[in-house]
Amino acid sequence: MSRSLTQAARVLRNSSAARSVFASSIRFYSASALPLKTPITLPNGIKYDQPTGLFINNEFVASQSGKTFTVESPSTQHTVAEVYEGSEQDVEIAVKAAEEAFKSWSQTPASERGLLLSKLADKIHENAELLASIESFDNGKALTLARGDVALVEKVIRYYAGIADKIYGTQIPTNDGFFTYTAREPLGVCGQIIPWNFPLLMWSWKIGPALATGNTVVLKTAESTPLSALVVSQFVQEVGIPAGVVNIISGFGATGAAIAKHPRIKKVAFTGSTATGRYIMKAAAESNLKKVTLELGGKSPHIIFDDADLDTAVEVAALGIFYNSGEVCSAGSRLYVQDTIYDEFIARLKARAEAISVGDPFDNETFQGSQTSKAQLDKILKYIELGKEEGARLVTGGERLDRPGYFIAPTVFADVKEDMRIVREEIFGPVIVATKFSSVSEVVDLANNSEYGLGAGLHTEDINKAIDVAGRIHSGSVWVNTYNAFHEAVPFGGFNQSGMGREMGEQSIDNYTQTKAVRIKINPKN
Ligand code: ADP
Repeated sequence: MSRSLTQAARVLRNSSAARSVFASSIRFYSASALPLKTPITLPNGIKYDQPTGLFINNEFVASQSGKTFTVESPSTQHTVAEVYEGSEQDVEIAVKAAEEAFKSWSQTPASERGLLLSKLADKIHENAELLASIESFDNGKALTLARGDVALVEKVIRYYAGIADKIYGTQIPTNDGFFTYTAREPLGVCGQIIPWNFPLLMWSWKIGPALATGNTVVLKTAESTPLSALVVSQFVQEVGIPAGVVNIISGFGATGAAIAKHPRIKKVAFTGSTATGRYIMKAAAESNLKKVTLELGGKSPHIIFDDADLDTAVEVAALGIFYNSGEVCSAGSRLYVQDTIYDEFIARLKARAEAISVGDPFDNETFQGSQTSKAQLDKILKYIELGKEEGARLVTGGERLDRPGYFIAPTVFADVKEDMRIVREEIFGPVIVATKFSSVSEVVDLANNSEYGLGAGLHTEDINKAIDVAGRIHSGSVWVNTYNAFHEAVPFGGFNQSGMGREMGEQSIDNYTQTKAVRIKINPKN
């Protein structure tokens, strides 16, 4: 689907007239109230009670409207659970709770906030296998990968636990008869809207820095993956994080829009598509000029020079696109291979793609699980058809697997041209598009020929070339001889239309604090 079509569909989906039409197909109103917990047995035999309510003021509650929606496992196409759907009214209640909590949370000693975050990280550690299994079931990703997500979630929360009491202002020696200092203060209630590709990881990128700095939050999960954030909400309450500090709302785009335009929310942090990012920014501007950070789409270049270690480069090029079924905003989706090794590289990439085990996410041998929803599956398949129509050479893949669930074979297109839509637009699936280049300056121009600028990879054994090219690529992250090498202490975010602001690392703290300058007139005494 083209970006404009996607955008049109989104506008339609979010308009009130259209919502009732969509409602009949995707949700229903419960005849009797939905219990606030539902027992679930995961495919690997783990049993647990899934909270179904909205999490407001440290309690699970029904939505004001009583509306619920169903959650499907995309790898089986079975309904997994039904959860309450929050609306604008629920957002208002959550904001009130968060405003009240802010009064004391912002004044709580930072070391205490850090300790509570540290306890939250302990809970995540203790429940890692459960959380990874829920994530895999809800999103469709391979369990082996979900375990990696949860390990990073724990590290992110621990990192912000550690940084909480190390955030200082400065004393400025103005020497003009004033004592001058700055303080870094929290913003207030922060709205956070997260996507479905890394549900719990995105929760941690948002919650960690917000809580460490003394803010309170109203976070909306993605409609297709609400489960894990509700489960960790129990831990929030159990470790003693005060009521109202963390509020979690399950819901659709309109609920996210209610957050973006809320007049008393001081900041909105969003991760998702560039099209939705535009709505968020507009709503933020038109409501109360709330602060905005956006982590949006990408079409990231992955460059292979002919002096690279080819075994590593083939492996990393495959991981860079097929990891998480290609549902990664920084996926290395545009492959540029030096002409001297192009044919050999494409042949080896084909073999690597065909060796990837796609299937049951709960099988420990599986690397690529299912796409996260039917909508995503359809969108990716449309792009594959478009690639064929545009004249790209389909090297391997290009089809849905003949089994229940939304599985797509790892797909490689070669000999693509710069103006093809499969080269310019984000597909968000296991589809890589490859072309050749001959010189450094040519590939730098090709790599930078994009409206995005999130990630980039380059492979070379020449340190001069690596540093030179890394400096010339317009993107928020550059990975050399590796790809998607995330670390909790390293900032991540986009150039161009891939977003604004950085998450993880110390820089995220800047996004959740504001500087106050205090000047005190000194009256010298003799
Ligand atoms: P996709 O189109 O790939 O699902 P989105 O950017 O629409 O990606 O979704 C990311 C998150 O943004 C989800 O939580 C979704 O519900 C939310 N969302 C969608 N539309 C809007 C909107 N108009 N305003 C605020 N949030 C939205």
